[in-house]
Amino acid sequence: MSSSLRFEVVGEAFKKKAVEVPAPSERPSEFFGKYVFTRQKMFKYLPADVYHKMCDVIDNGASLDLQTADAVAAGMKKWAMELGVTHCTHWFQPLTEGTAEKHDAFVEHDGKGGMVEEFSGKQLIQQEPDASSFPNGGIRSTFEARGYSAWDPASPVFVIGDTLMIPTIFISYTGEALDYKAPLKKAIHAVDKAATDVCRYFYPDVKKVISNLGWEQEYFLVDEGLYATRPDLLMTGRTLVGHESAKNQQMDDHYFGSIPERVTEFMKDLEIQALELGIPCKTRHNEVAPNQFELAPIYEETNLAVDHNMLLMSLMKKIARKHGFRCLLHEKPFAGINGSGKHNNWSLATDTGILLHGPGKTPADNLRFVTFIVETLMAVYRHNGLLKASIMSATNAHRLGGHEAPPAIISSFLGQHLSGILQHLENSTDDELIDVAGKHGMKLDIPQIPELLIDNTDRNRTSPFAFTGNRFEFRAIGSQANCAAAMIALNAAVAEALINFKTRVDALIENGVDKTKAILQVVREDIKTCKPIHFDGNGYSEEWQKEASRRGLDTECSCPIVFDRYLDESSVRMFETTHVFTRNEIAARNEIKWETYTKKIQIEARIFGDMCMNHIIPVATRYQSALIDNVHKVMKVFPAETAHRLNAKNLELIERISEHTGFIAEHTDKLIENRKIANRIENEREKAIIYHDTIAPMLESIRYHVDKLELIVDDEMWPLPKYRELLFIR
Ligand code: ADP
Ligand code: MG
Repeated sequence: MSSSLRFEVVGEAFKKKAVEVPAPSERPSEFFGKYVFTRQKMFKYLPADVYHKMCDVIDNGASLDLQTADAVAAGMKKWAMELGVTHCTHWFQPLTEGTAEKHDAFVEHDGKGGMVEEFSGKQLIQQEPDASSFPNGGIRSTFEARGYSAWDPASPVFVIGDTLMIPTIFISYTGEALDYKAPLKKAIHAVDKAATDVCRYFYPDVKKVISNLGWEQEYFLVDEGLYATRPDLLMTGRTLVGHESAKNQQMDDHYFGSIPERVTEFMKDLEIQALELGIPCKTRHNEVAPNQFELAPIYEETNLAVDHNMLLMSLMKKIARKHGFRCLLHEKPFAGINGSGKHNNWSLATDTGILLHGPGKTPADNLRFVTFIVETLMAVYRHNGLLKASIMSATNAHRLGGHEAPPAIISSFLGQHLSGILQHLENSTDDELIDVAGKHGMKLDIPQIPELLIDNTDRNRTSPFAFTGNRFEFRAIGSQANCAAAMIALNAAVAEALINFKTRVDALIENGVDKTKAILQVVREDIKTCKPIHFDGNGYSEEWQKEASRRGLDTECSCPIVFDRYLDESSVRMFETTHVFTRNEIAARNEIKWETYTKKIQIEARIFGDMCMNHIIPVATRYQSALIDNVHKVMKVFPAETAHRLNAKNLELIERISEHTGFIAEHTDKLIENRKIANRIENEREKAIIYHDTIAPMLESIRYHVDKLELIVDDEMWPLPKYRELLFIR
């Protein structure tokens, strides 16, 4: 049996496995949020005064007293127990890219030798998970290993199986953040405050500005049976060896193509369960690469959207297994075809329903639109290196800078319309823009902005931060990353830009300059300042790399060095003035980033070494022996001259195999030696740099020879499923 057939059988077994997809009789609108303690449920299960108090806590950040918390917990417990819930857990996002939970049963002694179901306000609000094993970058010394998780009332609790899940922040005993949620909430708060202040120039009744996030999650599916036979996929989430399949994405036939039935069943199941958990799934389609798909919900408030993305990623993994698949969230599971990302569509909106990055109808709307666009660009310009650092990881590094979205230089695509508007503003005088006669107050002669047109115009897929009509699309986020990292940096940077903007406008107003003129003046200055970040051309081209360095943009692509941008004075100042991070927290987080980087490459190198020595070389040698055997036999059967001619091809193959296996064996040894040297380095940054500069490239150079062997060795002997088997689900 050929290996492709052999592996196909493994896949077949799963194909035939009957999977029961729950077929809800109701419409999505009816089961949406079934397992979420929504406002509707709060209204039903909480006393009226407690309900109103909670609304105040959620909407206005009012503080929560223990008495209210007790009442809320009682209502939650009643609701949860009706769903068969027996346990509860604080659900948090430590700095490991996943989520963490610690389950406690709903039970207490009743004082009479029995048990009662118990769930108090205190349990709801705060827990003390034994946190010593979570990454902390040296913030917590072992003698003070306590960490606190504290309920985030802005994200509703939900039920999975028999457990009530309570979204929480996670902080150290001394108050430093050990997670993504705590700083994210601070960044959202900072941008709310700064944007509200600026908004009031235009709309005095605005009380709050909301940061919105609509993510698009890309992923791959592979057969579970095939996955299980690939140690690299199992341990690292990506294939460390594997020759390109003869057919992959060159025909462009997968993008938006029809979705295989098995995959549709998986998607349906996933969407139903996601909707029940309140994730507003909307779009599903095939992506560019074979076996690659995407799911996107309707956008939500950023904090909730991040929770929902974390939840969705864990649902994907779980539900994929039920359907005989494994879901790969790695940014680059396969070489030679597109990797996966997670576009973050981001915008700001007022509590009165105005999308601040979208054009409006009145002159005031137009000036507001331009202000928010330009100040966002200022933030991205000033912190382009930091924004890159916020999306950088060992795994995402495989995507950045390759010939696929996005390049490793942060720039912003604005399109013809918006570019034209900014240019017009920059070059026209106040008198041209403002109705000086004062009949209409302000007339603002900005060319009409057709909303739909902007949305559909020149999409530029090579831009990492593209304007798309009423939002920006940050496309550089890795598919398995926590979106919070990027959203913390972006929202905080925009908050800083808006604070700075307002300070300058107010200074002008104080000196007697008319408000509109003052705003125009500062906007004009900033349009000029942030010009280098604006780039509508091809982000993949070599000219852009040169041009970008001329413009002073960050062009560094070494992952561990990119992390340095967090420690730049401009970054520290920005995070401190917006109260998002202290210097100490930033330094601790960077330690974790470097350490994580090293560990990822270290694990890859180990698995890779094992595969080379235990899988590849033995099989190649066995095949080579078979060839040698054949050469001898040919010599026995044929006269010398004929045998010589007939053996020529095999002799060449025998030699090539030796060259490849020789290289692999020699360099695998060197790989081990280099790792030993690197591991002796104490400084995490230095170690990560050595891993980046010496270990990671070796994996690539050895892989080249393994992939060549794959083309030579008998298919029946080859021990690993090939790309063509992994990549085409039937
Ligand atoms: P595309 O792939 O063309 O970029 P999708 O429809 O896949 O578009 O995804 C668009 C995403 O952008 C969705 O998650 C959507 O909810 C989100 N989105 C739309 N408008 C906004 C907005 N104003 N702010 C934030 N996100 C938005
Ligand atoms: Mg998109």
